[in-house]
Amino acid sequence: MLTLNKLERESKKHLSDVIDLFGLEFQELYRKAKLVKINKLPRLRFFAPLYVSSLCGSNCGYCGFRKGSGIKRKTLSLKECRKEVGYLAGQGLDTVYCLTGSFREGNIHKFGTMTEINSRGLLAIKEANLFPVLESSPFSLENLKSLLNVVRGDGRYVLFQECYNRSTYFKLHKGDRYKGTPDERLQQIDLAIQAGWPEVGIGFLVGLHDDIISELSYLISHYYYLKDKVRKITISVPRITNARRIIIDSHSSDETFLKTVCIVRLLCPDAYIVITGRETKNIRDNLKMITHIWGVNGSTVPGGYTLGTDPSDGQFVVKDKRRVKEI
Ligand code: SF4
Repeated sequence: MLTLNKLERESKKHLSDVIDLFGLEFQELYRKAKLVKINKLPRLRFFAPLYVSSLCGSNCGYCGFRKGSGIKRKTLSLKECRKEVGYLAGQGLDTVYCLTGSFREGNIHKFGTMTEINSRGLLAIKEANLFPVLESSPFSLENLKSLLNVVRGDGRYVLFQECYNRSTYFKLHKGDRYKGTPDERLQQIDLAIQAGWPEVGIGFLVGLHDDIISELSYLISHYYYLKDKVRKITISVPRITNARRIIIDSHSSDETFLKTVCIVRLLCPDAYIVITGRETKNIRDNLKMITHIWGVNGSTVPGGYTLGTDPSDGQFVVKDKRRVKEI
């Protein structure tokens, strides 16, 4: 299994490339990055999130679901998941992400275990013939296998490292019993591959750790480690956006973000880049030719499409609310 120490050693190989590319102007980087897409990657695809539960035992200061954020928590039943997915099925999407907060599996709520809660969302997505993506708590190998069975062996497992820098990770998640150590979190992706998930997604939150060059170098090493182990790798490098009572804000400028996406495109040439509606229309349109999977018109609160839940109880604020046909 991969360790953060090993990844750190490997990341040194990419440092000088990342430094050189960061020294270029955005327009020059974008021009180079567009050439990669033309040669290798397909048309834009669209996804929306299905938030199955806003329960979370973690306290990440950059997230609206954190413990103590004061939101009204909700967990969907299977019937409610089907209703929400029924709405999404008419929106021209390819893919739906099944999302929850974090609890160690085995934690039983009146709603079921995290595995049971996620099974409902995945089942509803699969029944609607949409491509299922699981982005949730860390799971055991056994439960990753059982969740893959729900989607009949085909789907994508996504878990962001949040930040690769060990000391920033510990500082941000101090005393957190559910998030896992940086090594445990990294190894979740290995575990998902071992369980048979054919696609995986990785990434970090731009702005959580100040040294973007080092974070990018880690990410590129992570991509190369996984590259030949799965059918497809997606990469996302979102910025922190506003939510109720977040206590950590992003330090990242538009220019840093735009350059970061271009560098991912250039140095991870076969990865599919995901960009969510956290970014504005203007920023996303600036990256249209080099990104592949777009979040559209998404709600970040369980029940946000059909059940009338309060959008201010969401995980983050969506800035670009365009639908598929508008994009
Ligand atoms: S980032 Fe994930 S684990 Fe952290 S508070 Fe938000 S939902 Fe919970």
